[in-house]
Amino acid sequence: MRVLVLTGAGVSAESGIPTFRGKNGYWRNLDPTKLATPEAFARDPQLVWDWYRERRERIRNAQPNAAHEAIARLAKQTEEFLLVTQNVDDLHARAGLPGEKMVQIHGDIFITRCSRCTFEHDHEHEPEHESVPNCPQCDALMRPGVVWFGEQLSRRELQRVESYLDGGACDAVIVAGTTATLGYIVDWTLSASHGGGELIEVNPEETPLSRFATRLVREPAAIALPRIVDGLIRSR
Ligand SMILES: [Zn+2]
Repeated sequence: MRVLVLTGAGVSAESGIPTFRGKNGYWRNLDPTKLATPEAFARDPQLVWDWYRERRERIRNAQPNAAHEAIARLAKQTEEFLLVTQNVDDLHARAGLPGEKMVQIHGDIFITRCSRCTFEHDHEHEPEHESVPNCPQCDALMRPGVVWFGEQLSRRELQRVESYLDGGACDAVIVAGTTATLGYIVDWTLSASHGGGELIEVNPEETPLSRFATRLVREPAAIALPRIVDGLIRSR
């Protein structure tokens, strides 16, 4: 069985990670969609870092939910599997999904990287500063390893998705907790399911993908996914 799963903020929201646009999205009365930009970082790097450190802390204190666990179980049970997630947290990884079966297209919040050169380190080697860290190689400001609004996706991560899609059509594509407003989410989903595979949408609301879905599940991911995954594993 060949499977593609795409997840978005809705899956992490069920672990208590606020979405940018949800009612709990504001931070210090600031709009996160305006903080997660290169312009905000250029204007006030300390403010942007304060916000990301709070998000990191919140994620460290959160736990993977039943949706993350179901996806990790599906990965173990299928021959070919890729998760593409818009989430920058580590909840999929902590549920047991290996890095080679996952692409974080919007980056990894626990990576700290240079805003100028290629230097980066992950959180295991990164003591949390209170100020804005400087690059040990070139002294430019360090920044979180996420893709901000208005920035390009990483070419390397895009290629990992494209090469999986080039490997053949999928028997099942699951899209969960994403409003699928980004064009590439729609493109990848349709490309992976064009061979007649099942396209399962898990979202409480209608999205641009709904009309293509072979199965619509209007429930939270943590409730729906364990059941969907069990069904897929049984049907092999
Ligand atoms: Zn540097």
